[in-house]
Amino acid sequence: MGKRYHCDFCDKTFAYSSQNRKKHEQGVHHQRNRKLHYDSFKDPSELLAEQASKPPCRRFFQTGNCDFGVNCRYSHTNPQMLLAAQAEAEIQKSKLQEPGFEDWLVKWRKRRKKDEKKDKSEEETIPGSTLPPGLPPVYLLPPSLRPPPPGGYVDCPQVEWG
Ligand SMILES: [Zn+2]
Ligand SMILES: [Zn+2]
Repeated sequence: MGKRYHCDFCDKTFAYSSQNRKKHEQGVHHQRNRKLHYDSFKDPSELLAEQASKPPCRRFFQTGNCDFGVNCRYSHTNPQMLLAAQAEAEIQKSKLQEPGFEDWLVKWRKRRKKDEKKDKSEEETIPGSTLPPGLPPVYLLPPSLRPPPPGGYVDCPQVEWG
């Protein structure tokens, strides 16, 4: 069995010979796969700059199709598309700059302090016991409905039940 050559870009295996390999590497499919592979590591804005630096592909814009695809020396992106893509890239950037964990923590601490303050002031304003509205004055209430005396029921008589 002869040597086999595997192209990672194309995920293709073929009998190895320097000629075969050269032929493969010059093939359109390989070059496209190779470019796609490296493009996937590029920053979108870098890709945009690359596109913007190329003159527009006349064939692509006249026929809507160009056999060279991503390998075309000319740009297949028109100014409108570029602008849209640039706006998209800006959005992506601003997303990346969203508040990080540190910011979140600072906000959270502030919020917690506020909550603590709020709790205290609420405690101060809420009296120990309140009677529902609409009840007659306390002295008219039956003993079972009267609020407990401020010190609690301290002098309850100790009663021995026989
Ligand atoms: Zn290949
Ligand atoms: Zn083209």
